[in-house]
Amino acid sequence: MSVRGLTKAFGDNEVLRGIDLDVGRGEVVCVIGPSGSGKSTLLRCVNLLEEPSGGTVRVGDAELTDPEVDIDRVRRRIGMVFQQFNLFPHVDVTGNLTLPQRRVLGRGKAESLAVARRNLERVGLSDKANAFPAQLSGGQQQRVAIARALVMDPEVMLFDEPTSALDPELVGDVLAVMRRLASEGMTMMVVTHEMGFAREVADRVVFMDGGVIVEEGPAAQVVGAPRHERTRTFLTRLL
Ligand code: ATP
Ligand code: MG
Repeated sequence: MSVRGLTKAFGDNEVLRGIDLDVGRGEVVCVIGPSGSGKSTLLRCVNLLEEPSGGTVRVGDAELTDPEVDIDRVRRRIGMVFQQFNLFPHVDVTGNLTLPQRRVLGRGKAESLAVARRNLERVGLSDKANAFPAQLSGGQQQRVAIARALVMDPEVMLFDEPTSALDPELVGDVLAVMRRLASEGMTMMVVTHEMGFAREVADRVVFMDGGVIVEEGPAAQVVGAPRHERTRTFLTRLL
């Protein structure tokens, strides 16, 4: 995935001021930065939930920002997991995992069910196939949300603070699922405040402030020995 010169303004509020970022196949990039720095806007521009004001986004061989491109087709290559789990409340876990496959990909009943089962197993929730979202803990709901993104066979997974809405004791299970995905070779871009996760899992950490990338590099460098004052200040406040 490659982002070049990405800008986004809401009215005269320039939220992204020229972002250049590559995420290689199988790479895990964590994005950190203060509130309002543009992290969510960056993710939302990458899967075109927001229309960029300028610049380009490329996933595989597709140029998402090409006006000729079939947005819906390309967007299927990108899985997104939000802070709020956004499951369909009126259908059970299996329904949450099969409906998007049937509606969006046109998969048949048997295939979508098999893919659902496989991915439910991947997030450790095979025993919850028939539960409704309201019967699950926040951490379980988030793992279902991850499985729901995975059933679409995405090339890239985007996570926007996936553990921020969870009770502390539920965070570990979700991070464990994300670790597993990373070790399976999933390409991931993760906005997170979990510095332990960033240090252990990220191939690269990107620190954003004021709509620009201030600093990026291996976690040991950006989190462990930041070069920029703004990064240091941010990390100090986090602790
Ligand atoms: P947080 O850590 O609090 O989630 P963030 O880094 O994700 O912050 P963004 O949500 O990307 O920050 O917001 C960056 C700026 O863009 C903020 O000033 C916000 O008010 C503005 N913004 C975001 N979305 C919109 C929108 N739909 N309309 C207008 N302004 C927006
Ligand atoms: Mg955000």
